[in-house]
Amino acid sequence: MGPLIVGGGPAGSAAAIRLARWGIRPLLIERTREPGDALCGGFLSWRTLDGLARLGIGELDGAPVRRLRLFAGETVAERPLPAPAMGISRLRLDRLMIEAAARAGARVERGAAARGWAEGFIRVDADEWAPDGLFLATGKHELRGLARPREAAGSDPAIGLRVRLGPHPTLDRLIGDAIELHLFDRGYAGLVRHEDGSANLCMAVRKSRLDEAGGPEALLGALARLPHLGERMACRRRGTPDAVAHVPYGWRARAAMPGIFRLGDQAGVIPSLAGEGMGIAIASGVRAADLWLGHGVHGATHYQAAMGRALGRPIGVASLIGSAAQMPLLAPWLVRLAGIPGAADLIARATRVRHD
Ligand SMILES: Cc1cc2nc3c(=O)[nH]c(=O)nc-3n(C[C@H](O)[C@H](O)[C@H](O)COP(=O)(O)OP(=O)(O)OC[C@H]3O[C@@H](n4cnc5c(N)ncnc54)[C@H](O)[C@@H]3O)c2cc1C
Repeated sequence: MGPLIVGGGPAGSAAAIRLARWGIRPLLIERTREPGDALCGGFLSWRTLDGLARLGIGELDGAPVRRLRLFAGETVAERPLPAPAMGISRLRLDRLMIEAAARAGARVERGAAARGWAEGFIRVDADEWAPDGLFLATGKHELRGLARPREAAGSDPAIGLRVRLGPHPTLDRLIGDAIELHLFDRGYAGLVRHEDGSANLCMAVRKSRLDEAGGPEALLGALARLPHLGERMACRRRGTPDAVAHVPYGWRARAAMPGIFRLGDQAGVIPSLAGEGMGIAIASGVRAADLWLGHGVHGATHYQAAMGRALGRPIGVASLIGSAAQMPLLAPWLVRLAGIPGAADLIARATRVRHD
């Protein structure tokens, strides 16, 4: 049956595009029938934009992002980014990528969900298949038989939360062409404008903080009282917050399994404040496809080892910064440090993944 790609997010689509461009017709299955708006800030770093351009996806029409702005209480710092970046909704990006995969020649089946993996066979709805290489690109979702270890999320696991803001002239004025990071006790929130001027307020917050606040709405109420963030949250759209539990920030796959290529969040999870998760997804999809093309299923061992090494520095540095950012005593110092010319640049570059 050829290679099977499970998941049509950035990682799965990148692998499908790359394989299809070399004349292979992989099967990509995606459990949703229509592209959704995944829980994600939507910041594409300059490196991620490079990776997308190499895949032939250059016409994104997102919102330009040129600066980084950091907040910890009343402490604020702003620096230009090392290179222009972009804000885009996942609805738009995921649609563009999966359509590019189909155009390149991949067979795309929407509304088909993988149910589990055992001894070389994958169950997809009522069928059982033995693919010639499995590209696991299920992102935040686990596949039975290949799940990431639950303890990877740690003793005080992180929770991802998202509420939608705008579009509104206030957001244009306050955020402009910046990616903003608002640091608070045991969490942080990112904000960047998307192609239509709206923004996702995306947060990573420790479970202990959420419990202490009394739930998502109570936490949002407390955050709305923070200087600067409150003004932006006044543009919140109606609706309940979206959540994803047990995000295993800092985890990366080290052990390889024959024939299994773990991509994107299934290869490694970088703390969201780095804004590089989609970069990892795309870089891993391309690298896995290249190793499958060179070595078939035997490429999996080499791929996973190489990917694990490539993710060591960006995930390691982002994890250190992420821990400091969530400590009320350290966060203002981190913001001041980021304001020193050269320092933010160094951190921004150290947390990128390579696309070559
Ligand atoms: C709060 C938060 C903010 C973030 N902000 C940013 C940011 O601003 N910039 C950035 O670069 N990264 C950000 N990230 C990280 C980024 O969202 C992920 O790293 C990225 O989406 C990973 O891509 P992926 O393709 O591996 O998985 P996903 O994007 O999760 O895609 C997985 C796909 O697989 C499908 N699927 C799942 N299970 C099955 C199944 N069993 N069968 C078939 N299909 C299945 C899903 O429907 C989905 O379409 C953020 C993450 C969080 C939690």
